[in-house]
Amino acid sequence: MRLANISNRLTLINRNSEIIDVSEETGGLFSPRIEECYERWDELLEVAATLGGITGRPLAEIMPEEFGNPAPQPRQVFAIGLNYAAHAAEASLAVPQDLTVFTKFVTSLAGPYGTITLPPGTVDWEVELVVIIGRGGRHIPRERAWGHVAGVSVGQDLSERTMQAAGPAPQYSLAKSFPGFGPIGPLVVTPDEFDDPDNIELGCVLNGKEVQKGRTADMVFPVPEIISRLSRVTPLLPGDVIFTGTPPGVGVGRTPQRFLAPGDELVTYVRGVGEMRHRMKAQR
Ligand code: ZN
Repeated sequence: MRLANISNRLTLINRNSEIIDVSEETGGLFSPRIEECYERWDELLEVAATLGGITGRPLAEIMPEEFGNPAPQPRQVFAIGLNYAAHAAEASLAVPQDLTVFTKFVTSLAGPYGTITLPPGTVDWEVELVVIIGRGGRHIPRERAWGHVAGVSVGQDLSERTMQAAGPAPQYSLAKSFPGFGPIGPLVVTPDEFDDPDNIELGCVLNGKEVQKGRTADMVFPVPEIISRLSRVTPLLPGDVIFTGTPPGVGVGRTPQRFLAPGDELVTYVRGVGEMRHRMKAQR
């Protein structure tokens, strides 16, 4: 199943890539607000199966500005650092023995298209697979972890490296939480849509040049391990968002280093989900 937040409405995409307004087609059984569907995930899956025959506007006709963040109101946002060995190496850091966890504050989350304002400093890109929780839980075993996932999406963990590295301890959470620094979208795709949800290609392209390309099979802690370890400490809640870490190719690890500049266009993709497209602009 594929979902989107189109014109601020919960939208299902059918097998013919046409859009279906879930609230309208269910006579108001579901709220148009996509954030509310994660709380009723099992019910949504059942209802969605009955809506498959309905036709609608082609997805391809939807304008970029109509797409919003498909996980706009998570109660918790987790982000995993150094989750690909080759990225840890380019950052001159050791591969972690346990999860390195920070948050991106919710005001940093944004939609899949548009402009991102660059604060002063050195802003870097990080393509990431984003996981959205459907069924919550605590002490979730690895073997059942994918069953707690509503779907996956494309994410960018934009990071201001100067602030991140200042001070005696890293400032991950704050330096990665400027407005617009956590775009997600355009679709949410359920894990069953992938041949292997633990081996998905992801990447990003800066001004037409590929800068990152990886596979989630190279994660130090795969998605089921992340869910299992996080939920040993904190309950996971429906609608929670997990940024799962970035593969190599970020700007800070390049020689010479390269950071985002006004006018740059950043395209971020996850194969099987789609791509996001953002233009950088100067803070004025
Ligand atoms: Zn990251």
